[in-house]
Amino acid sequence: MTTIKLYNTLTRRKEVFEPLDAQGVRMYVCGPTVYDRAHLGNARPVVVFDVLYRLLRHVYGADHVRYVRNFTDVDDKIIARADATGRPIDRITAETTQWFLDDMAALGALEPDEMPRATQYIPQMIAMIEALIARGHAYAAEGHVLFAVDSYPDYGRLSGRAVEDMIAGARVEVAPYKRNPMDFVLWKPSTPEQPGWDSPWGRGRPGWHIECSAMSHELLGERFDIHGGGNDLMFPHHENEIAQSCCAHPAPEGEQCFAQVWMHNEMLQVEGKKMSKSLGNFFTVRDLLDRGVPGEVIRYVFLSTHYRKPMDWTERKAREAEAKLMKWHRIVKDVTVNRFANHENAERWGIVEAIANDLNTPLALRRLETLGNMAEHGDDSHRRWFREAANFLGLLTDEQSGWVTSADGILQELARKLGDLREVARETKDYTEVDAMKSALVAAGVEVRMSKDGIALEARPGFDPAKLEALK
Ligand code: AMP
Ligand code: ZN
Repeated sequence: MTTIKLYNTLTRRKEVFEPLDAQGVRMYVCGPTVYDRAHLGNARPVVVFDVLYRLLRHVYGADHVRYVRNFTDVDDKIIARADATGRPIDRITAETTQWFLDDMAALGALEPDEMPRATQYIPQMIAMIEALIARGHAYAAEGHVLFAVDSYPDYGRLSGRAVEDMIAGARVEVAPYKRNPMDFVLWKPSTPEQPGWDSPWGRGRPGWHIECSAMSHELLGERFDIHGGGNDLMFPHHENEIAQSCCAHPAPEGEQCFAQVWMHNEMLQVEGKKMSKSLGNFFTVRDLLDRGVPGEVIRYVFLSTHYRKPMDWTERKAREAEAKLMKWHRIVKDVTVNRFANHENAERWGIVEAIANDLNTPLALRRLETLGNMAEHGDDSHRRWFREAANFLGLLTDEQSGWVTSADGILQELARKLGDLREVARETKDYTEVDAMKSALVAAGVEVRMSKDGIALEARPGFDPAKLEALK
């Protein structure tokens, strides 16, 4: 069996992965707050943990892995969006949830086994908060319930911070009802207009962190294998999840409570700068897809950087990835692979091994490239090996090849049209229309090769099919 090694934020070491139960490997990843389109950075953890999910399914069997990723559908940002737009909260969350699913599917990400929504787990959250109060880890004050960080000596272990330093670093105004400035909210009161649920502390709503503790407990149990998310969540969100879950469900002596392995992806930047609305370099996955950047290209660019390194999204990388994938699709276009392929070829060519080593996707892509070069000059079985190995990474799948086939279809159609124009021009000796069409094709990123035998059109990096519409 493949040995998987994963870097564990909790121990700050790369460790051999040993699931608590190999018959039921369990992973939880923090999902989006649904009030707007996912920006490109939000897609990074989705792709990173999709790669891990595929690896776990391969190694332990698809029926022996359970992957849970939540939707945060109760949050002050959602309430603010409803106030600003006058639209009902449930419409906003339902719409953005579907957007998220569509956009992530375009990146070739498999859907997790469970996608719980926070609002469906309010009773479980209330029960957990009651248990924390009963055990002396939380207290009610002025309609709020707060977690008492002093009651949990390990608070700060994940992010490597001491509570005193956190207090010194915190610039927020401290609510008077907090016993310790670092105590965080488990439950808070709602005004009549705000969404709220009845609870022993009055009508209110949960704080953000408790939802992940309650949902992971309900769906994966007290202890499970892997917990993931972006490294911006390490503190306070994950630190607070650990405090809540470990205090509500302590582990047996000598064992690690809650999640065994904590994994964090680094942030995504754009052209070397932090992505932010004020810098004007903020865009959503949908913006890119609408601009004609195929989801597979986004996926490839993501995979080209290791998940624990900052990822720099650049136009240039996207163009290079597009050219490469286009070439690869052409190599494999006549080979079909078994959808239920056992990834024998991903094993054989070292792709699985690279991914099993703490998700070394850059190495996996280099190995795939070698195989691609072989397939280009090889026979049908080489091409099938190549396609199967790529499928393991979610590349060159049937679902992902649509953008190349449709581009090829358009180009074939246009090549015929250009051929007809040339026929006419040969008679009339007026080549104006032929030249105009040629220039328009070149402007859309198409290489035009005309010889007496025929006309060949080939998409180049930066190819923009939208610019061809007028030519059809
Ligand atoms: P949020 O909706 O802000 O809670 O974020 C959803 C997920 O996206 C979390 O796992 C975040 O860590 C992750 N995330 C947010 N911004 C970025 C970014 N710039 N790069 C990578 N991951 C991010
Ligand atoms: Zn979470």
